[in-house]
Amino acid sequence: MSPSTFHQKTLFDQAIEPAERRAGLKAKPRRFFLQMHDATRLHYDLRLEHAGVLKSWALPKGPCLDPVVRRLAVLLKNHAVPSGTNEGTIPAGYGAGTVLLWDCGFWLPDQDVDQALRDGQLTFQLHGKKLKGIWSLTRMKPRYDERQVNWILKKEPDDEARSLSETDILVARPESVRSGRTLAEIAQEPPVMPLKPGTKRARKPAPNQLPLLAEDAEE
Ligand code: MN
Repeated sequence: MSPSTFHQKTLFDQAIEPAERRAGLKAKPRRFFLQMHDATRLHYDLRLEHAGVLKSWALPKGPCLDPVVRRLAVLLKNHAVPSGTNEGTIPAGYGAGTVLLWDCGFWLPDQDVDQALRDGQLTFQLHGKKLKGIWSLTRMKPRYDERQVNWILKKEPDDEARSLSETDILVARPESVRSGRTLAEIAQEPPVMPLKPGTKRARKPAPNQLPLLAEDAEE
């Protein structure tokens, strides 16, 4: 471990979940999911588990390991936690398109998450299969006529950073972390019918045939 990584880890260890630490509780790991979504336009959906829901951002150009590259992250409404692992194709209507679970794992905030979201500045660690190290989400000032809330997702400099000319993680690792399949392979599978929120599944479906939640769609 390099000195810089050690320094960052120490900083995070000290800063994580101060309220829970003061209460003598161990910080609970929070899950994150990143789905590739071939909808009207191909995009990626970043979902961070917090307070029982998935805080979600749509990334039109996906994540990038290069700290000099800023990627737009459009704030979405909160999603239900089970929808994070979704993979498959919704045939038509709201949210139509093919979804691939591109990355998943755990995330660690370096501060109080609610406060950070209010302030528009969240720094966090990702412990995913593809995305690791320190990242930040920063809310941009809205233009007066803008209806969507734009944030910027950026890789912070650390040992996990890579220059884009060296590594484009989206090109290097296009496969699903759940099934190893590509988007094209998933799209060839029979479509799965969306469930209405709150609908109980009758029985456990095959791993590649999990129904998508109807609320999982934002376009
Ligand atoms: Mn989407």
